[in-house]
Amino acid sequence: MRLYFRIWLALLALTCMWQLRAAPVSNKCAICGNEIGEVTYIVVDKITEEKKHICLECSKLPHNCFICGLPVKADFTELPDGRVLCARDAKNAVLDDDEARKICDNVKEALDRLFARFITFPGTNVETSVVDRVNLQALFKVPGNDYECPNILGYTRSRTNLNRIEHQISLMTGLPRAELKAVSAHELSHAWVFENVSGARKKTLSRDAHEAFCELVAYKLMSSEEDEEQKAHIRRNHYTRGQIDLFIEADERYGFNDIVDWMKYGVDSALHGDDLNRVRNIEIPVVKKKASTVASYATKAVPSRPGTASGPTVSAPSLVLKGITWNESRPLAVINNRTFAPKEMGGIRLGQTNAVIRCLSIDKTSVRIQFVASGEERELKLPPE
Ligand SMILES: [Zn+2]
Ligand SMILES: [Zn+2]
Ligand SMILES: [Zn+2]
Repeated sequence: MRLYFRIWLALLALTCMWQLRAAPVSNKCAICGNEIGEVTYIVVDKITEEKKHICLECSKLPHNCFICGLPVKADFTELPDGRVLCARDAKNAVLDDDEARKICDNVKEALDRLFARFITFPGTNVETSVVDRVNLQALFKVPGNDYECPNILGYTRSRTNLNRIEHQISLMTGLPRAELKAVSAHELSHAWVFENVSGARKKTLSRDAHEAFCELVAYKLMSSEEDEEQKAHIRRNHYTRGQIDLFIEADERYGFNDIVDWMKYGVDSALHGDDLNRVRNIEIPVVKKKASTVASYATKAVPSRPGTASGPTVSAPSLVLKGITWNESRPLAVINNRTFAPKEMGGIRLGQTNAVIRCLSIDKTSVRIQFVASGEERELKLPPE
Protein backbone atom coordinates (compact mmCIF):
# COMPACT_ATOMS: atom_id res chain seq x y z
CA MET A 1 0.00 0.00 0.00
CA ARG A 2 1.38 3.37 -0.94
CA LEU A 3 0.50 5.36 2.14
CA TYR A 4 0.50 9.11 1.78
CA PHE A 5 0.10 10.52 5.18
CA ARG A 6 -0.53 13.96 3.83
CA ILE A 7 -4.13 12.85 3.36
CA TRP A 8 -4.58 13.26 7.06
CA LEU A 9 -3.42 16.81 7.05
CA ALA A 10 -4.75 18.02 10.30
CA LEU A 11 -3.43 14.96 12.09
CA LEU A 12 -0.04 15.36 10.49
CA ALA A 13 0.26 18.96 11.41
CA LEU A 14 -0.23 18.01 15.02
CA THR A 15 2.22 15.14 15.04
CA CYS A 16 4.92 17.06 13.21
CA MET A 17 4.93 20.05 15.49
CA TRP A 18 7.15 20.46 18.45
CA GLN A 19 6.74 23.38 20.72
CA LEU A 20 10.06 25.04 21.42
CA ARG A 21 10.54 27.30 24.35
CA ALA A 22 14.19 28.01 23.63
CA ALA A 23 15.17 31.06 21.60
CA PRO A 24 14.35 30.38 17.92
CA VAL A 25 17.10 30.09 15.32
CA SER A 26 15.12 32.18 12.84
CA ASN A 27 12.85 34.98 13.98
CA LYS A 28 10.67 35.07 10.90
CA CYS A 29 7.68 32.78 10.47
CA ALA A 30 7.97 30.63 7.32
CA ILE A 31 4.25 31.06 6.64
CA CYS A 32 3.32 34.68 7.37
CA GLY A 33 6.80 36.23 7.41
CA ASN A 34 6.15 38.06 10.69
CA GLU A 35 8.46 38.06 13.69
CA ILE A 36 7.95 34.95 15.80
CA GLY A 37 7.14 35.67 19.44
CA GLU A 38 8.37 33.62 22.34
CA VAL A 39 6.98 30.32 21.12
CA THR A 40 8.23 28.73 17.92
CA TYR A 41 6.63 25.75 16.25
CA ILE A 42 8.56 23.47 13.92
CA VAL A 43 6.77 21.81 11.01
CA VAL A 44 8.26 19.48 8.42
CA ASP A 45 7.87 20.28 4.73
CA LYS A 46 6.99 16.90 3.18
CA ILE A 47 8.47 17.89 -0.17
CA THR A 48 11.85 19.26 0.83
CA GLU A 49 12.07 17.42 4.19
CA GLU A 50 13.09 20.77 5.71
CA LYS A 51 12.05 21.78 9.19
CA LYS A 52 10.31 25.15 9.09
CA HIS A 53 9.83 27.56 11.98
CA ILE A 54 6.37 29.04 12.29
CA CYS A 55 4.53 31.30 14.72
CA LEU A 56 1.77 30.36 17.15
CA GLU A 57 -0.89 32.03 15.03
CA CYS A 58 0.09 30.10 11.88
CA SER A 59 0.19 26.83 13.81
CA LYS A 60 -3.55 27.31 14.37
CA LEU A 61 -4.48 27.90 10.71
CA PRO A 62 -7.37 25.63 9.69
CA HIS A 63 -5.93 24.37 6.36
CA ASN A 64 -2.76 22.54 5.42
CA CYS A 65 -1.37 22.07 1.93
CA PHE A 66 -2.31 18.64 0.60
CA ILE A 67 1.14 18.21 -0.94
CA CYS A 68 3.66 19.56 1.57
CA GLY A 69 1.55 19.44 4.75
CA LEU A 70 2.43 23.01 5.79
CA PRO A 71 -0.30 25.36 7.02
CA VAL A 72 -1.58 27.75 4.36
CA LYS A 73 -2.53 31.37 4.99
CA ALA A 74 -2.66 33.34 1.72
CA ASP A 75 -2.34 32.67 -2.01
CA PHE A 76 -3.54 29.11 -1.75
CA THR A 77 -5.61 27.17 -4.27
CA GLU A 78 -8.70 25.38 -3.08
CA LEU A 79 -9.80 22.29 -5.03
CA PRO A 80 -13.51 21.44 -5.38
CA ASP A 81 -13.12 18.47 -3.01
CA GLY A 82 -11.87 20.71 -0.19
CA ARG A 83 -8.13 20.09 -0.48
CA VAL A 84 -5.90 23.14 -0.55
CA LEU A 85 -2.50 23.65 -2.17
CA CYS A 86 0.09 26.24 -1.16
CA ALA A 87 1.22 28.70 -3.85
CA ARG A 88 4.50 26.84 -4.43
CA ASP A 89 2.93 23.39 -4.82
CA ALA A 90 -0.03 24.61 -6.89
CA LYS A 91 2.52 25.51 -9.58
CA ASN A 92 3.63 21.87 -9.91
CA ALA A 93 0.22 20.29 -9.47
CA VAL A 94 -1.69 18.99 -12.46
CA LEU A 95 -5.07 20.68 -12.10
CA ASP A 96 -6.39 20.18 -15.61
CA ASP A 97 -7.99 16.77 -16.29
CA ASP A 98 -7.07 16.73 -19.99
CA GLU A 99 -3.46 17.47 -19.15
CA ALA A 100 -3.49 14.69 -16.54
CA ARG A 101 -4.81 12.18 -19.09
CA LYS A 102 -2.17 13.28 -21.58
CA ILE A 103 0.54 12.71 -18.97
CA CYS A 104 -0.84 9.20 -18.34
CA ASP A 105 -0.78 8.42 -22.07
CA ASN A 106 2.84 9.55 -22.18
CA VAL A 107 3.64 7.35 -19.20
CA LYS A 108 2.23 4.32 -21.04
CA GLU A 109 4.42 5.11 -24.07
CA ALA A 110 7.46 5.70 -21.88
CA LEU A 111 6.92 2.38 -20.08
CA ASP A 112 6.57 0.51 -23.36
CA ARG A 113 9.87 1.98 -24.55
CA LEU A 114 11.66 1.42 -21.27
CA PHE A 115 10.47 -2.16 -20.73
CA ALA A 116 10.25 -3.28 -24.39
CA ARG A 117 12.80 -6.03 -23.80
CA PHE A 118 10.95 -7.43 -20.81
CA ILE A 119 7.21 -6.91 -20.69
CA THR A 120 4.33 -5.23 -22.50
CA PHE A 121 1.85 -3.23 -20.48
CA PRO A 122 -1.88 -3.56 -21.19
CA GLY A 123 -3.08 -0.75 -23.44
CA THR A 124 -6.32 -0.88 -25.39
CA ASN A 125 -8.22 -2.49 -22.51
CA VAL A 126 -7.22 0.20 -20.01
CA GLU A 127 -9.45 3.16 -19.28
CA THR A 128 -7.87 5.97 -17.29
CA SER A 129 -9.80 8.69 -15.55
CA VAL A 130 -8.89 11.50 -13.21
CA VAL A 131 -11.10 11.87 -10.16
CA ASP A 132 -11.17 14.04 -7.07
CA ARG A 133 -10.56 12.74 -3.59
CA VAL A 134 -14.21 12.27 -2.71
CA ASN A 135 -14.82 10.06 -5.76
CA LEU A 136 -11.56 8.18 -5.36
CA GLN A 137 -12.38 7.27 -1.79
CA ALA A 138 -15.85 6.15 -2.87
CA LEU A 139 -14.23 3.68 -5.29
CA PHE A 140 -12.59 1.85 -2.40
CA LYS A 141 -16.00 0.80 -1.22
CA VAL A 142 -16.91 -1.03 -4.45
CA PRO A 143 -17.02 -4.75 -3.62
CA GLY A 144 -16.27 -7.72 -5.86
CA ASN A 145 -13.18 -6.52 -7.68
CA ASP A 146 -10.53 -9.05 -8.65
CA TYR A 147 -7.78 -6.94 -7.17
CA GLU A 148 -7.83 -3.57 -5.54
CA CYS A 149 -4.74 -1.45 -5.33
CA PRO A 150 -4.95 0.26 -1.98
CA ASN A 151 -2.88 3.22 -3.17
CA ILE A 152 -4.97 6.15 -2.03
CA LEU A 153 -3.69 8.40 -4.81
CA GLY A 154 -4.71 5.93 -7.48
CA TYR A 155 -6.96 2.95 -7.93
CA THR A 156 -7.02 0.05 -10.35
CA ARG A 157 -10.06 -2.05 -10.92
CA SER A 158 -9.43 -5.13 -13.05
CA ARG A 159 -12.27 -7.34 -14.16
CA THR A 160 -12.72 -10.33 -16.40
CA ASN A 161 -15.87 -9.94 -18.40
CA LEU A 162 -16.83 -12.70 -20.87
CA ASN A 163 -13.18 -13.69 -21.40
CA ARG A 164 -12.19 -10.07 -21.89
CA ILE A 165 -10.03 -8.35 -19.32
CA GLU A 166 -10.78 -4.72 -18.54
CA HIS A 167 -8.87 -2.32 -16.33
CA GLN A 168 -10.19 0.93 -14.98
CA ILE A 169 -7.50 3.16 -13.54
CA SER A 170 -8.48 6.20 -11.49
CA LEU A 171 -5.91 8.79 -10.50
CA MET A 172 -6.34 11.65 -8.10
CA THR A 173 -6.55 15.21 -9.37
CA GLY A 174 -4.12 17.84 -8.16
CA LEU A 175 -1.05 15.61 -7.80
CA PRO A 176 2.38 17.03 -8.54
CA ARG A 177 3.38 16.17 -12.12
CA ALA A 178 6.16 13.72 -11.18
CA GLU A 179 4.00 11.96 -8.64
CA LEU A 180 1.15 11.62 -11.13
CA LYS A 181 3.57 9.84 -13.47
CA ALA A 182 4.79 7.55 -10.70
CA VAL A 183 1.26 6.68 -9.57
CA SER A 184 0.20 6.09 -13.17
CA ALA A 185 3.13 3.69 -13.72
CA HIS A 186 2.31 1.95 -10.44
CA GLU A 187 -1.31 1.37 -11.44
CA LEU A 188 -0.42 0.16 -14.95
CA SER A 189 1.90 -2.36 -13.30
CA HIS A 190 -1.05 -3.74 -11.36
CA ALA A 191 -2.84 -4.20 -14.66
CA TRP A 192 0.19 -6.09 -16.02
CA VAL A 193 0.31 -8.34 -12.93
CA PHE A 194 -3.38 -9.07 -13.29
CA GLU A 195 -2.91 -10.28 -16.87
CA ASN A 196 0.44 -12.02 -16.58
CA VAL A 197 0.69 -13.66 -13.20
CA SER A 198 -1.33 -16.82 -12.70
CA GLY A 199 -4.07 -16.96 -10.10
CA ALA A 200 -2.14 -19.60 -8.15
CA ARG A 201 0.98 -17.42 -8.00
CA LYS A 202 -1.00 -14.34 -7.02
CA LYS A 203 -2.29 -16.27 -4.02
CA THR A 204 1.24 -17.08 -2.81
CA LEU A 205 2.63 -13.63 -3.59
CA SER A 206 2.65 -11.33 -0.57
CA ARG A 207 0.85 -8.04 -0.90
CA ASP A 208 4.02 -6.16 0.08
CA ALA A 209 5.94 -7.82 -2.78
CA HIS A 210 3.09 -7.19 -5.21
CA GLU A 211 3.03 -3.49 -4.31
CA ALA A 212 6.84 -3.30 -4.34
CA PHE A 213 6.91 -4.63 -7.91
CA CYS A 214 4.59 -1.78 -8.96
CA GLU A 215 6.76 0.69 -7.06
CA LEU A 216 9.87 -0.69 -8.79
CA VAL A 217 8.34 0.02 -12.21
CA ALA A 218 7.55 3.59 -11.07
CA TYR A 219 11.06 3.90 -9.63
CA LYS A 220 12.68 2.77 -12.90
CA LEU A 221 10.55 5.26 -14.83
CA MET A 222 11.71 8.03 -12.49
CA SER A 223 15.32 6.79 -12.93
CA SER A 224 14.98 7.11 -16.69
CA GLU A 225 13.79 10.68 -16.18
CA GLU A 226 16.60 11.36 -13.68
CA ASP A 227 14.05 12.54 -11.14
CA GLU A 228 16.06 11.99 -7.96
CA GLU A 229 13.46 13.70 -5.77
CA GLN A 230 10.68 11.33 -6.80
CA LYS A 231 13.02 8.32 -6.51
CA ALA A 232 13.84 9.35 -2.94
CA HIS A 233 10.12 9.83 -2.31
CA ILE A 234 9.42 6.25 -3.45
CA ARG A 235 12.23 4.90 -1.26
CA ARG A 236 10.98 6.87 1.76
CA ASN A 237 7.62 5.14 1.69
CA HIS A 238 7.73 2.35 4.21
CA TYR A 239 4.43 0.74 3.35
CA THR A 240 5.99 -2.21 1.45
CA ARG A 241 7.86 -2.95 4.68
CA GLY A 242 11.27 -3.01 3.07
CA GLN A 243 10.30 -4.93 -0.07
CA ILE A 244 10.85 -1.94 -2.39
CA ASP A 245 14.50 -1.66 -1.28
CA LEU A 246 15.01 -5.39 -1.93
CA PHE A 247 13.34 -5.15 -5.35
CA ILE A 248 15.61 -2.23 -6.31
CA GLU A 249 18.67 -4.16 -5.11
CA ALA A 250 17.63 -7.38 -6.87
CA ASP A 251 16.96 -5.44 -10.08
CA GLU A 252 20.44 -3.88 -9.94
CA ARG A 253 22.11 -7.20 -9.13
CA TYR A 254 20.24 -9.66 -11.37
CA GLY A 255 18.27 -7.56 -13.86
CA PHE A 256 14.59 -6.98 -14.49
CA ASN A 257 14.11 -10.27 -16.36
CA ASP A 258 14.76 -12.17 -13.15
CA ILE A 259 12.29 -9.96 -11.28
CA VAL A 260 9.63 -10.69 -13.92
CA ASP A 261 10.33 -14.44 -13.75
CA TRP A 262 10.12 -14.33 -9.97
CA MET A 263 6.81 -12.47 -10.08
CA LYS A 264 5.43 -15.16 -12.39
CA TYR A 265 7.06 -18.30 -11.01
CA GLY A 266 8.85 -17.46 -7.77
CA VAL A 267 8.82 -20.06 -5.04
CA ASP A 268 8.88 -17.50 -2.19
CA SER A 269 6.10 -15.09 -1.32
CA ALA A 270 8.46 -12.14 -0.85
CA LEU A 271 12.13 -11.29 -1.42
CA HIS A 272 14.56 -12.17 1.37
CA GLY A 273 17.04 -9.55 2.51
CA ASP A 274 19.40 -12.14 3.99
CA ASP A 275 19.54 -14.13 0.75
CA LEU A 276 18.56 -12.04 -2.24
CA ASN A 277 19.79 -14.79 -4.55
CA ARG A 278 16.52 -16.59 -3.83
CA VAL A 279 14.92 -14.32 -6.42
CA ARG A 280 16.32 -16.91 -8.85
CA ASN A 281 14.48 -19.69 -7.10
CA ILE A 282 11.64 -20.27 -9.55
CA GLU A 283 9.56 -23.11 -10.90
CA ILE A 284 8.27 -22.75 -14.44
CA PRO A 285 5.32 -25.04 -15.14
CA VAL A 286 5.87 -26.86 -18.42
CA VAL A 287 2.55 -27.63 -20.04
CA LYS A 288 2.33 -30.32 -22.68
CA LYS A 289 -0.04 -30.42 -25.63
CA LYS A 290 -3.21 -31.05 -23.67
CA ALA A 291 -3.92 -27.67 -22.18
CA SER A 292 -4.35 -27.38 -18.44
CA THR A 293 -2.42 -30.57 -17.63
CA VAL A 294 0.81 -29.58 -15.99
CA ALA A 295 3.28 -32.26 -16.98
CA SER A 296 6.36 -31.23 -15.08
CA TYR A 297 8.26 -28.33 -13.62
CA ALA A 298 11.47 -26.96 -15.04
CA THR A 299 13.59 -25.19 -12.50
CA LYS A 300 15.68 -22.31 -13.72
CA ALA A 301 18.83 -23.78 -12.22
CA VAL A 302 18.51 -26.81 -14.52
CA PRO A 303 20.16 -26.19 -17.91
CA SER A 304 17.93 -26.71 -20.92
CA ARG A 305 18.19 -30.11 -22.53
CA PRO A 306 20.25 -29.84 -25.71
CA GLY A 307 18.82 -33.08 -27.13
CA THR A 308 15.35 -31.63 -27.52
CA ALA A 309 16.43 -29.14 -30.14
CA SER A 310 16.31 -31.61 -33.02
CA GLY A 311 13.81 -33.42 -35.22
CA PRO A 312 10.66 -32.22 -36.90
CA THR A 313 9.23 -30.68 -33.78
CA VAL A 314 11.62 -27.73 -33.87
CA SER A 315 11.51 -25.11 -36.57
CA ALA A 316 14.44 -23.00 -35.46
CA PRO A 317 17.70 -24.38 -34.09
CA SER A 318 17.85 -24.25 -30.30
CA LEU A 319 14.39 -22.72 -29.96
CA VAL A 320 12.03 -25.25 -28.45
CA LEU A 321 8.33 -24.83 -27.94
CA LYS A 322 7.91 -26.72 -24.69
CA GLY A 323 4.27 -26.13 -23.99
CA ILE A 324 1.15 -24.10 -24.51
CA THR A 325 -1.42 -23.11 -21.94
CA TRP A 326 -4.50 -22.67 -24.07
CA ASN A 327 -6.93 -19.96 -23.12
CA GLU A 328 -8.58 -18.07 -25.94
CA SER A 329 -8.26 -14.65 -24.33
CA ARG A 330 -4.82 -15.17 -22.86
CA PRO A 331 -2.83 -18.09 -24.33
CA LEU A 332 0.71 -18.60 -23.06
CA ALA A 333 3.64 -20.40 -24.70
CA VAL A 334 6.76 -21.73 -23.03
CA ILE A 335 9.70 -21.33 -25.41
CA ASN A 336 12.89 -22.82 -23.98
CA ASN A 337 12.50 -21.80 -20.34
CA ARG A 338 10.61 -18.57 -20.89
CA THR A 339 6.89 -17.90 -21.01
CA PHE A 340 5.45 -15.59 -23.64
CA ALA A 341 2.06 -14.06 -24.14
CA PRO A 342 1.12 -12.81 -27.62
CA LYS A 343 3.04 -9.61 -28.51
CA GLU A 344 5.45 -10.16 -25.65
CA MET A 345 9.19 -9.88 -26.18
CA GLY A 346 11.96 -11.55 -24.24
CA GLY A 347 15.55 -12.61 -24.35
CA ILE A 348 16.46 -16.27 -24.83
CA ARG A 349 19.93 -17.68 -24.43
CA LEU A 350 21.03 -19.50 -27.59
CA GLY A 351 24.47 -20.99 -27.10
CA GLN A 352 26.82 -18.10 -26.45
CA THR A 353 24.41 -15.38 -27.54
CA ASN A 354 21.17 -13.85 -26.36
CA ALA A 355 18.39 -13.68 -28.93
CA VAL A 356 15.51 -11.31 -28.37
CA ILE A 357 12.34 -12.73 -29.82
CA ARG A 358 8.80 -11.50 -30.03
CA CYS A 359 5.89 -13.88 -29.80
CA LEU A 360 3.58 -12.88 -32.67
CA SER A 361 0.72 -15.31 -32.16
CA ILE A 362 -0.16 -18.46 -30.27
CA ASP A 363 -2.26 -21.28 -31.63
CA LYS A 364 -3.38 -24.46 -29.87
CA THR A 365 -0.34 -26.40 -31.12
CA SER A 366 2.09 -23.83 -32.49
CA VAL A 367 3.42 -20.31 -32.12
CA ARG A 368 4.79 -17.72 -34.53
CA ILE A 369 7.83 -15.82 -33.35
CA GLN A 370 10.05 -13.16 -34.77
CA PHE A 371 13.73 -12.50 -34.16
CA VAL A 372 13.69 -8.82 -33.23
CA ALA A 373 17.17 -8.05 -34.57
CA SER A 374 16.70 -9.53 -38.05
CA GLY A 375 12.93 -9.39 -38.36
CA GLU A 376 12.99 -13.06 -39.44
CA GLU A 377 9.84 -15.00 -38.55
CA ARG A 378 9.57 -18.67 -37.57
CA GLU A 379 6.87 -21.10 -36.62
CA LEU A 380 7.49 -23.41 -33.69
CA LYS A 381 5.39 -26.54 -33.20
CA LEU A 382 4.72 -28.59 -30.12
CA PRO A 383 6.48 -31.96 -30.06
CA PRO A 384 4.18 -34.91 -30.86
CA GLU A 385 2.89 -36.80 -27.83
ZN1 LIG B 1 3.14 33.00 11.05
ZN1 LIG C 1 2.52 22.96 -0.16
ZN1 LIG D 1 -0.78 -0.60 -5.58
